[in-house]
Amino acid sequence: MSVLADHQPAAPFVDAKAAAAAAVEAARDEILDLSHRIHATPEPAFEEVQAATWVAETIRAHGFEVEHPAGRLATAVRGRLAGGLGTDGPRIGILAEYDALPGLGHGCGHNTMAASGVGAAIALAAVRDLFAGEIVFLGTPAEERGSGKQYMLEDGLFDGLDAALLYHPCDRNHVDIAPLASEDVSVVFHGLQSHAASEPWEGRNALDAMIALFSSVGLWRQQLPPHCRVHGIIQEGGTAANIIPDRTRAWFMIRSADQAYYEVMKERFRRLCEAAAIAADVQVEVEFSGFASTMKTSRVIANRWVANAAAYGIEDQGPDGTSGSTDMANVSWAVPAIHPDLAITDVPTPGHSIEFRDAAARPRADETVLLAATLVAQTALDLFLDPALVERAWREFRGDAGA
Ligand SMILES: [Zn+2]
Ligand SMILES: [Zn+2]
Repeated sequence: MSVLADHQPAAPFVDAKAAAAAAVEAARDEILDLSHRIHATPEPAFEEVQAATWVAETIRAHGFEVEHPAGRLATAVRGRLAGGLGTDGPRIGILAEYDALPGLGHGCGHNTMAASGVGAAIALAAVRDLFAGEIVFLGTPAEERGSGKQYMLEDGLFDGLDAALLYHPCDRNHVDIAPLASEDVSVVFHGLQSHAASEPWEGRNALDAMIALFSSVGLWRQQLPPHCRVHGIIQEGGTAANIIPDRTRAWFMIRSADQAYYEVMKERFRRLCEAAAIAADVQVEVEFSGFASTMKTSRVIANRWVANAAAYGIEDQGPDGTSGSTDMANVSWAVPAIHPDLAITDVPTPGHSIEFRDAAARPRADETVLLAATLVAQTALDLFLDPALVERAWREFRGDAGA
């Protein structure tokens, strides 16, 4: 017997939640097939053509009115379905990610997020006669790079939502996360080519500037607080050893757990780039993109998640000691949101690794996909069936007293 059928959901609304769990179980093959197909067809940020199409087709088949593309992003999806008791009720966002990592595949396990988000949407569609309001499914591309959700926020695709729910795979179970403010930085140095032996003095070396930048970033790290990160790769380092490089390009990321300190880092990084350019007598272009903020978790909704998870034997293990970044954090400043982690493996396994990628398509992960779909749907039901809870979430969000 599966874990879903084996446990009684958390109160309140036990019958509705049990019906949602049964709907996930009934759609088990469809949900897991989607997870496996996306895992086997990894597509990086903004290129999730196949995944977005599969996701859109699946929710359309379950009655959702689907926009694909949605907003400016070709691989964004929005599906909407009214509650059976009318649209005058909460509008709950059920999110799904599906981008992979270049060269690694689904090393972050986003296939499990796509499938569980779709699974939650299927479950809520199956029990929609029980509530008023609107289920809003959002397929959100480009989490690993580029902050797709930020574009979707700007395109109005989150407008009118009362909550946004998104699970992420992990090697632990916890509802609280503390993602770092983060941004991608493209750094391009422009120099002047010349023969590296016969007349090097005629050149201006763009690689020297890049090496100076990496050196100064390395020295800077000693002065950075522990919650800060700066890391990068060289994407273009010249074309031949006997040519003074006239162009080099790097991709950095800078991050901080402190939103205000992040702004300080950003300015300092820009000055390090300019200093490196001066040192090598070259020009520099610095371009920041894909901003992700720190997270504002909705305690009101997180508490419901923890209770719903506990009913299935999931004990919250507390937040991770260290963190990456996510554009879900940007959403959390627009609408009450949670981004809980559930384990897809029982052994410590770092994200963004081959081991995590392989774990994301195993039977252990499959069970987590179904559990995540169930818990997202049940937490959405807590909100649909209790508008006072939605109001409390908004009061907390606004910082009102007594929330
Ligand atoms: Zn990731
Ligand atoms: Zn991820």
